[in-house]
Amino acid sequence: MRFKFLLPLLFAVPAMAQTTIIKQDAFITQMNAEVSSKNIEAIVRKLVSFKTRHTLSDTTSKTQGIGAARNWIKAEMERYAAASGGRMHVGFDIFTQPAGGRIDKPTVLKNVLAVLKGTDPADSRIYIVSGHYDSRVNDVMDTKSFAPGAVDDASGTAVSMELARVMASRQFPATIIFMAVAGEEQGLNGSTNVARRAKAENWNVDAMLNNDIVGNTYGMETGLKDNRRIRVFSEGVPSTAAGNERALASLIGNGGENDSPSRQLARYIKEVGERYVSQLDVKLIYRRDRFLRGGDHTPFLQNGFTAVRFTEMNEDFNRQHQNVRKENGVDYGDMPDFADYDYIQKVARMNLSVLANLALAPAEPQSVGITTSGLTNKTTLKWEAPKAGKKPAGYYVLMRETISPYWEKKFYVTGTEATLDYSKDNYFFAVQAVDTDGHESLPVYPNPIR
Ligand SMILES: [Zn+2]
Repeated sequence: MRFKFLLPLLFAVPAMAQTTIIKQDAFITQMNAEVSSKNIEAIVRKLVSFKTRHTLSDTTSKTQGIGAARNWIKAEMERYAAASGGRMHVGFDIFTQPAGGRIDKPTVLKNVLAVLKGTDPADSRIYIVSGHYDSRVNDVMDTKSFAPGAVDDASGTAVSMELARVMASRQFPATIIFMAVAGEEQGLNGSTNVARRAKAENWNVDAMLNNDIVGNTYGMETGLKDNRRIRVFSEGVPSTAAGNERALASLIGNGGENDSPSRQLARYIKEVGERYVSQLDVKLIYRRDRFLRGGDHTPFLQNGFTAVRFTEMNEDFNRQHQNVRKENGVDYGDMPDFADYDYIQKVARMNLSVLANLALAPAEPQSVGITTSGLTNKTTLKWEAPKAGKKPAGYYVLMRETISPYWEKKFYVTGTEATLDYSKDNYFFAVQAVDTDGHESLPVYPNPIR
C-alpha cells in the first residue's frame, strides 16, 4: 500500500537527470573579462554618428554616409590588428552589386573583414562572426534620412569589432574572421558575396555566427523586459537538401531532420555559451529565421556552410526600420539610448566563448558511421581521426532520446569506435573530438554504414 504514495514521487524525477559539470578554460574566461560594455557602447554611438549607413548613401563625405562608416570600421579594426604581431589582416571585400531589387543602380559595396590567421598551417578551418553595418528607415530606398540603426545592426557590428579587439593578440590553431557586411537591408548583398567567394575559393568555413539585432531588452506591446535570454535560429532540413532527392531520402530514412549541421552548432552554442556566460539562457529556435525577415547566415547555409542567427528575445518594432520621430507620445527610431549595452556584452561573450572553444578544439572526426549491418539492441559507431591539425585526446559519443532537444549523455572514448548497450533504434547519436583541456569540436551526426 505504501507504493501508492511513493509512485508519484518517483515519476517526478526526470528519467535522465544528471549533474552538469562546468569546467571553464581560464584563457577563455580572461578574454571574456576583457569584453567591455563601454567599448561596445562607444562603437554603437560612433556608428550612429554617421547619420545614415544606407547602402546607397554618400561615399565621399568624411563624416556622413556609408563611405565614412566603412572607412572608420576598417581603420578601427586595423588599430586592433596592431596587437596581433602581423597575424590579423584587415581589408575590404569589394564588389559591384548590379541594379535590381532594392539596388537602383550598379553600386560598389565594401565588406570589412579582419582575418586572424590560425597558428597551425595544417589547420584550414575558418570560423566567422558577423554583423551588418548598413542601416535603413521606413522607405528602404531612402538614402538621406537619419537612420541610426543602433540595434539593427550596430549592435551586431560592435560584437564583431569588440571580439576582434580582444582576440587579436591571442593565438588559435584555426583562423577566425571578424566581419562587418553591407547591403543586408537591400537584400543580403554583402554576405552573399562573401558566401559565394567562400564556396568558389574552397574556404573551409566550419561555422558562421550572424549577430543581427542583439541589443534591445524591452519588448514592444508585451512590455516584457528580458536581458537573460538570446535566441539562436537554426534550420532543420539543410538548405542544400532542397531539390536533392538523395539527401532528402536519407533524412527521411534515418530520422536526421533535427540533426542538421546548423542545429548541431545551435546545441553546441547553448552548451558552451552557458558554460561561460552567467545569467544567459540560450534559447534554441527550430527555424531558419523569423517571419518576414532574412539574415546574413542564410547565404552561407545556401552555399553549404554551417551557420546560425542570434537575435534578442523581444524585438521592439517601433525602433527597427523607422524614421526617427515622435507620434502620439511614442518614440520611433533605432536610437542608441534604447540599447542595453550590458546585454550586448553578454551576447559578445557568448560569441567569444563559442569561437574560442571551436578554434582551440581539434577538427571534427571524419567518416562518422553507425553500423546497421545486423539486428541488435546495441549501437556501434565508427569514425576516423581528423585529417589535419591538432590530435584529439579522445572523443565524446553523444546520446539523447529521439524526442529530446539536447544531448543527454556523453561517453568519453579514446579509440575511434564505440559499442554502447543502448539500441540505435531508440536514441540519436553524434561524435565530437575533444582535446586534453576539454575544447570540443562540433558534433557529427553519423551516416548508416554496413
Ligand atoms: Zn538587421
